[in-house]
Amino acid sequence: MSGPVVFGTTSKVESLLDTNILPRFLALPQFGKVAAEYVWIGGSGSDLRSKTKTLEELPKSVKDLPKWNYDGSSTGQAPGDDSEVYLMARKIYKDPFRGGDNILVMADAYEPPRDIDGKHIDMKPIPTNTRSPCAEVMGKCEAEEPWFGIEQEYTLLNSTTKWPLGWPECGFPGPQGPYYCSAGSGAAIARDIVEAHLKACYFAGVNISGVNAEVMPAQWEYQVGPCLGMDMGDDLWMSRYILLRIAELYNIEVTFDPKPIPGDWNGAGGHCNFSTKATRTAPGGWEEIQKHIGKLEKRHAVHIASYGEGNERRLTGKHETSSMHDFSWGVANRGASIRVGRSVPVDKCGYYEDRRPSSNLDPYVVTRLLVETTLLK
Ligand code: ADP
Ligand code: MN
Ligand code: MN
Ligand code: MN
Ligand code: MN
Repeated sequence: MSGPVVFGTTSKVESLLDTNILPRFLALPQFGKVAAEYVWIGGSGSDLRSKTKTLEELPKSVKDLPKWNYDGSSTGQAPGDDSEVYLMARKIYKDPFRGGDNILVMADAYEPPRDIDGKHIDMKPIPTNTRSPCAEVMGKCEAEEPWFGIEQEYTLLNSTTKWPLGWPECGFPGPQGPYYCSAGSGAAIARDIVEAHLKACYFAGVNISGVNAEVMPAQWEYQVGPCLGMDMGDDLWMSRYILLRIAELYNIEVTFDPKPIPGDWNGAGGHCNFSTKATRTAPGGWEEIQKHIGKLEKRHAVHIASYGEGNERRLTGKHETSSMHDFSWGVANRGASIRVGRSVPVDKCGYYEDRRPSSNLDPYVVTRLLVETTLLK
């Protein structure tokens, strides 16, 4: 993912809209029609795109959802003279914005099927489709039951000034300390967005497991998990889409940049917690975790290279991070690459936390790498 998205518009259109009017229309009957909002990842690898398809009936499963396509030349994913990119529906969620039977659909992107010299060439994932290789790897280790939990940190920005929300204009708030898990005006900023997001995720069926205010003011975290296999990537991407849609209603910008404010301000991470059937089972689980850590150490550089764009600005060895140049691990150590919980050596089983991924991580990439390195190498 690249740096913060800078939107080109300067007018505050949203503030001209009377928010009391839309609910009248949302309440109208739909006579059986279902709006399906297909959501996919665009060409930067971090931009989320979506469009609506009307269905004549409620799909029972993802198999009932039609293939669809979009203009890949507008998302940096195809040339204009061969612009069709195909969408395959992968997971259905309830739509917290439209309500009723309407749905959100996580989809991924493919080249169209082709007929070349009478030979049928099937749909191939486009180069930026990171879900497809992840699904392949997860398929190989179903028996190990990989569970993931990602801690998604993010920062809210004033959409006009691009400065963190609630910070003095052209200035800085008091130093870090009081803001983490805080309550109170001036400490916890724009909690309405966090609450709306939590409830919307419950409604949608995203496996959100908690929220908290973070160390830097205007920075928040939510956790998704534990999720089995592919659900981690699907649910995290959908949770981000829902967050962007909610923030849009408030005309507030969300950034997943790993270090939105340079200097003595915490960056934003995307810690990935991981366990397998073997690590969760005593008494061998703790030993199994140590084996995983040994394998992760050997592939540190491979992981770091794919753990988020701009992560080098965050992984400095300060602000509860490890240096990106060294691999380290420790029990209860928040300055290490890998942290093992206090209870693991006691219970002889459990999970561990990879603290290296940044907030703009691609969960399809991070979960694939964890499984590849620890289970398939
Ligand atoms: P931290 O103490 O690092 O802030 P959090 O409570 O924010 O930790 O996040 C812990 C994450 O670990 C959650 O996403 C949770 O779903 C996940 N988790 C819990 N148990 C397991 C497990 N057995 N395997 C994988 N992930 C797990
Ligand atoms: Mn058009
Ligand atoms: Mn956390
Ligand atoms: Mn955190
Ligand atoms: Mn953590």
